[in-house]
Amino acid sequence: MNPMKFQPVLDEIVATLRPQIAQCGQGEHHGKVASYIPALARVDARQFGIALRTCEGEEAGAGDFETPFSIQSVSKLFTLTLAMQRMGDALWERIGREPSGNPFNSLVQLENEQGKPRNPFINAGAIAVADRLVSQAKASGPGADGGNGGNGAKDDILALMASLCGEPIAFDDEVAQSEADTGFRNVALANFMKSFGKIDNDVATVLDTYFHQCALRMSCRQLARAAAFLCRDGAHPIDGQPDVTGERQTRRINALMLTCGTYDAAGDVAFSIGLPCKSGVGGGIVAVVPDTLTLCVWSPALDATGNSLLGMKALELFVARTGLSVF
Ligand code: GLN
Repeated sequence: MNPMKFQPVLDEIVATLRPQIAQCGQGEHHGKVASYIPALARVDARQFGIALRTCEGEEAGAGDFETPFSIQSVSKLFTLTLAMQRMGDALWERIGREPSGNPFNSLVQLENEQGKPRNPFINAGAIAVADRLVSQAKASGPGADGGNGGNGAKDDILALMASLCGEPIAFDDEVAQSEADTGFRNVALANFMKSFGKIDNDVATVLDTYFHQCALRMSCRQLARAAAFLCRDGAHPIDGQPDVTGERQTRRINALMLTCGTYDAAGDVAFSIGLPCKSGVGGGIVAVVPDTLTLCVWSPALDATGNSLLGMKALELFVARTGLSVF
């Protein structure tokens, strides 16, 4: 597929949304940046980027597509991938695969469901995945926990991201610290699961991993590239590397993105966009057109469900303009 045909589409989306980008964060109909994480509250809401990478490895981008931002829950996609690579089906003993129908940081279902999170994309599920990664890092022997505050899982996450992007990727320590200082609900979720025996490691180490994965700083270009294995049956985005996941696992990750990747907006997103998506409260959204391309949009102002307001509009415009959807 010729990527040149996508560049005008991305330019047109930026031009169409330009008036709304200028209004972002101003007034109740124009979205709000995630203020519950103090370091994110300072981000300028009037930024917008969009980038894509085709199965053939061609890239296109428009707007602020090179500006790094806090990827937040988009990271859950990559930690899930790492855990699936390492543990296969054993992962599902601790984590479900059903949409929660609740906000991403909700505690209510955990009590009724004995500390087993509904899916790996709500906060509880991602914290449970982080616990598995901490265990895996410990088990992988000497040297595995060097260099990153005694937490080898963080090194494993950075190594995966660097390998997928073909360039170094870093944590934003200020954002990670900001979450550690104010992430009371996440502390509650982790302790609650621990009380049910569903977290094996020290809660502080598991949360340190989770807060850092959320604080990864990446641009739309880097995220579209890193997620590109999802549009090519798990094949590594950069030639010559082994596959990231197999075809079956890739299908499953895409299915989970469609059903759970945007929390309690997942039904609406399937209805109006029809693509597997994973969002984060930094305003990023990764979307996959299987066998064709991976997209990343970013606009920091969020709607009431915690998804990027203009990011969703941009995806709707992209699907309407190109006809690319899984349905
Ligand atoms: N770090 C955020 C939190 O734990 C991630 C939430 C999100 O992006 N939806 O609340």
